[in-house]
Amino acid sequence: MMRQYELVDRVRRYNPATDEGLLDSAYVYAMKAHGSQVRASGDPYFSHPLEVAAILTDLKLDDATIVAALLHDTIEDTKATRAEISKKFGKDIATLVEGLTKIKKLDLVSKRAAQAENLRKLLLAIADDVRVLLVKLADRLHNMRTLKFVPEEKRNRIAEETLDIYAPLAGRMGMHDMREELEDLSFRQLQPDVFRSVEGRLAAIREKNAGLIKAIEEELTSELRLAGTKAKVRGREKRPYSIWRKMERKAVGFEQLSDLYGFRVVVATVADCYKVIGIVHTKWPFVPGRFKDYISTPKQNDYRSLHTTVVGPGRQRVELQIRTNDMEQVAEYGIAAHALYKDSDKSGGAEILPHDSNAYAWLRRTIEMLAEGSSPEEFLEHTKLELFHDQVFCFTPNGRLIALPRKATPIDFAYAVHTDVGNSAIGCKINGQVAPLVSELQTGDEVEIIRSDAKTPPAAWDAIVITGKARAAIRRATRSAVRKQYTGLGRKMVERAFAKASLPFSEDKLQAALPRLARPTSDDLFSSVGRGEIKPDDVLRAVDPEWRAERVTGAKAPKSEGGWFGLRRASSLKFRIPEKGKEEKSSAIPIRGINGELPVRFAPNGGAVPGDRIVGILNPGEGITIYPIHSPALKEFDDQPERWLDVRWDVEEAEPQRFPAQVGVTAKNEPGSLAQVASVIGEHGGNIDNIRMGSKSPDFTRMVIDVEVFDLKHLNAIIAQLRAKKVVSAAERVNG
Ligand code: MN
Repeated sequence: MMRQYELVDRVRRYNPATDEGLLDSAYVYAMKAHGSQVRASGDPYFSHPLEVAAILTDLKLDDATIVAALLHDTIEDTKATRAEISKKFGKDIATLVEGLTKIKKLDLVSKRAAQAENLRKLLLAIADDVRVLLVKLADRLHNMRTLKFVPEEKRNRIAEETLDIYAPLAGRMGMHDMREELEDLSFRQLQPDVFRSVEGRLAAIREKNAGLIKAIEEELTSELRLAGTKAKVRGREKRPYSIWRKMERKAVGFEQLSDLYGFRVVVATVADCYKVIGIVHTKWPFVPGRFKDYISTPKQNDYRSLHTTVVGPGRQRVELQIRTNDMEQVAEYGIAAHALYKDSDKSGGAEILPHDSNAYAWLRRTIEMLAEGSSPEEFLEHTKLELFHDQVFCFTPNGRLIALPRKATPIDFAYAVHTDVGNSAIGCKINGQVAPLVSELQTGDEVEIIRSDAKTPPAAWDAIVITGKARAAIRRATRSAVRKQYTGLGRKMVERAFAKASLPFSEDKLQAALPRLARPTSDDLFSSVGRGEIKPDDVLRAVDPEWRAERVTGAKAPKSEGGWFGLRRASSLKFRIPEKGKEEKSSAIPIRGINGELPVRFAPNGGAVPGDRIVGILNPGEGITIYPIHSPALKEFDDQPERWLDVRWDVEEAEPQRFPAQVGVTAKNEPGSLAQVASVIGEHGGNIDNIRMGSKSPDFTRMVIDVEVFDLKHLNAIIAQLRAKKVVSAAERVNG
């Protein structure tokens, strides 16, 4: 195990200004915290954070990162707390360690291949500081290096996760050595036979081509020197995983893979890079289609180089990467390169980033800060990961990851899980706490959707959700619910028409008449009737021409006492007030309320409440409007008898609903009289929706109150209580 002074030495080699005391106390703190814990290998647990710190010294990272590496498992696995770490090592380091603790919990999340991309983004969103990711990658690298000690059944899962998430992440951050090692370690675990065979072939070729790399290196170097260009040339063998990927991708055998060697040519300036490419292409034949200019068009992760493949010395195909020193830093260390202590670097590092890099704009901003003379520590501190700040990442209770735009609600979440889940959502829990469906979700939230049997979302959700998927699903569901309501209404209207005409109703007869009515299905027909596009007597005529003939020849109209709306005259209707309690339950359409199965709404300005005698007016395309039978508004429909519908209340006593009514009150002008009126209504269970003040005389004020009540009895009780008040001189129901 590395000793305390060895770690400090490693850091001091690249950072002479290191805070030795800080490193020492972190070393001691972590060692004590992990105490006698041991790793699967039998080594003391502390050897792990220490190795992770060592890996990060290779990347030449700052003190805070090294300390965070030493402490990275303490909050999760020991008695250490964030508060204690914050007190001892400062807020910055405590934040880093907490970020690592959060990511560690993610390792428990069940992974699916399709989620890998989301998980990578989640990592970035949670990490929030590039140093957290650097420690996490080093942590994973050490765990992969010691994978053979982990129980057999866990190894594949860890290796898959590494290959799916951490290796590509290292690649995106431009850390290619880290990426290749992670890939090879995973490859060896997941496909041991293939790995061994690739490695065996590589060894054989190595033997056959002994000295080749050296020979090519020398020849290249001398060619360039002849042309007056100073260059460092280094050759290397491709790694097993990248060879295997190439064989898979191109479906070729090992023998056909000619370019097993790659060479890097590092020069001083960008102009030199292009000069080298000219020399190389003149000297050796190049392979067409392999030249890539990543200097003028850098890769997403700011990687810059010229790539080419030539048929080099000994007829061997060789790949060349040509770049400057600065580009080499980025290529080797990626993001970590920007964290290097650049005491010898005159350029200040500001040049190494291309001016048009999008994803790394944040890095450029911080580089600018660095160029203005800030310390490397400050640079790292401000290197926040803002890449995915327009997204939130949440979980289902069983660990599925759902990515949503920022400001998304649990309703959006529910629809992202499944349309059925969205349609039946009635509530939610966020991190175990019941929360409103309109809450704004945060990254890391675990969201549980509470569902009911209902399948129709409130249409108002349309305005709340922010994802297109949720909005489209809500509109679809609302449309189909409305259609169902009209179909239900139309069916009732047609059935009643048949009953009143003494014709037996049957779907078969209806089916036969559909072509004549130009409707493809009986549901379409019912829906059209419900919407008022087809009259029920048109349906009767289509089904039974006999019945029609009877009507046309002026035969006696059916008896009207049954109240079949289509045949009654307005005059007879208007005065037909059924005796109390003797409504024709068989023929009248049952009205439950506004959330029922029919497209029903109540007349504005003092609608009807259960107990009132009611009439329905069919509004083509809008459903039925319910009026109390005494409503003056009904006069308007006198000459349109076909629009009148017999309706009756069908309210369940077990589930009382509220209905809007209006009460007019004349109250004395006294301080507090309005409050008294309001409290009488409240005390007797009425919901006040609105109060409008009307005419005011010196002594009295007239007001109209919108109140929601359960039924007529309830409304009358409230009116009686109002009349009993001294301040109230008159109170009565208003019917607009
Ligand atoms: Mn660890």
